[in-house]
Amino acid sequence: MNGEQTRSNGMSTTNWEPSSWRSRPIKQPVHYEDQAAVDKSLAKLQHLPPIVTPTEIWKLRRSLEDVALGKAFLLQGGDCAELFDYCNDEAIDSKIKLLLQMSLVLIWGGNKPVVRLARMAGQYAKPRSSPMETVNGKQIPSFRGDILNGYDIEHRDLDPERLVQAYFHSAATLNYVRAQLSSGIADLHKPLDWGLGHVQDPEMQKKYTTIVESISESLRFMRTIGADTAGQLQTVDLYTSHEGLLLAYEESLTRKLKHPSNRNVPPTMKAAKAPKVSPLTGGALTNNSIQEPETTGYYNTSAHFLWVGDRTRQPDHAHIEYFRGIENPIGIKVGPTTSVEDLTQLLDIVNPRKEVGKVTLITRYGEGKVNELLPKHIEAVRKTGHVVVWQCDPMHGNTRSTTTGVKTRSFASIFSELSSALRIHKETGSFLGGVHLELTGDAVTECTGGSQGLQDEDLGERYETFCDPRLNEKQALELAFLVAGSQRG
Ligand code: PEP
Ligand code: MN
Repeated sequence: MNGEQTRSNGMSTTNWEPSSWRSRPIKQPVHYEDQAAVDKSLAKLQHLPPIVTPTEIWKLRRSLEDVALGKAFLLQGGDCAELFDYCNDEAIDSKIKLLLQMSLVLIWGGNKPVVRLARMAGQYAKPRSSPMETVNGKQIPSFRGDILNGYDIEHRDLDPERLVQAYFHSAATLNYVRAQLSSGIADLHKPLDWGLGHVQDPEMQKKYTTIVESISESLRFMRTIGADTAGQLQTVDLYTSHEGLLLAYEESLTRKLKHPSNRNVPPTMKAAKAPKVSPLTGGALTNNSIQEPETTGYYNTSAHFLWVGDRTRQPDHAHIEYFRGIENPIGIKVGPTTSVEDLTQLLDIVNPRKEVGKVTLITRYGEGKVNELLPKHIEAVRKTGHVVVWQCDPMHGNTRSTTTGVKTRSFASIFSELSSALRIHKETGSFLGGVHLELTGDAVTECTGGSQGLQDEDLGERYETFCDPRLNEKQALELAFLVAGSQRG
């Protein structure tokens, strides 16, 4: 389908279609050897059912609108590279529980609702700085995520069958998340295990215990007065997200679907609902300027939220071309190499109608650069009139190598960038809308620091990531405590 398309908001997406990215230059390109096998996989994907629906997507959009207006806070977290192997009950349960606990702490800290977004059920494609790497003196293709190739050295060739496997792992993961949520995994009537035993510093221990007691007390109080008439304490919303990197996959799951009823119709479209018959004369109205409201739009049905990575956000390239046409809320990574010009141009391209909260800007500068760069970006965006969600990713600008060459991040640097972002937003009359973290519910040793006091030498104990180092359960919770503390303080 060519020509003029119209998005739900009446916005013109000239010459956009799910495949129009194919005529643009692309970063992180994918060259398969067996095109027939790729076509077969894509054809299969095209007729599989949506993993998420427009109703859910718009529910998240409404929540992100609240975040953009300062009425809610966004917590996004999960693995850097999700493996198909993580599609098991233990790994999923521990991540749901961790996100739930962190969100309770953040609700306490910010005194506003928290929107939970998991980097899960589809975070299978990774951008790499080099297509090849040296392993045991031999050059082999880099691991690009389970949707493309395998981490094991003998599985590094691209395998088109993995496209279909990605769909099924994604669907199975989300199916289990939905089942657990509706079976009470997030039921706040049950006491939560906060496990603060590792916190050595008595002052920290006291601070965190006070927060936990305050949260537990509030929950007890709500139960006692029977404040749960609508069952809000029994379950929570949890949305899914991933980097929209592998566009052939995203295109195959992009569907033209009916807009849901929970989508508010903007004023321009309400006007278009004028009657076709004159209420005065009963005669047919022939005013051609009255258009039918659009009833369908293009939805990426692979996840509720997708973001464009730091390496693929060039305004005139394929990824941005794809992202500008979908109804889903989207994120754009913003880093030290993002110019003010690119940033404002990007917002105009992906959100020409300036819809509030449609775009989340995920800033990831590094603790040494945030002070210089964030104020400029806040100022530039303010001038455009776009109302975005400002989210801080304190992970990706703070990666370092130990003397023995292990990729890690220190808790102090992560917290430092996050604190700076909180402060800078406040000082400039803006506000931080959310955080974006790489974390796992397991007791891994990938980032240094935190109350466990992990040192470079300890990293070998349980270093399990297949890409970037993640906060473990204790570090992630501690970060939430510290953020909550500074929000209150
Ligand atoms: C990521 O979020 O895992 C990632 C690759 O980030 P960035 O695009 O910001 O480098
Ligand atoms: Mn990462």
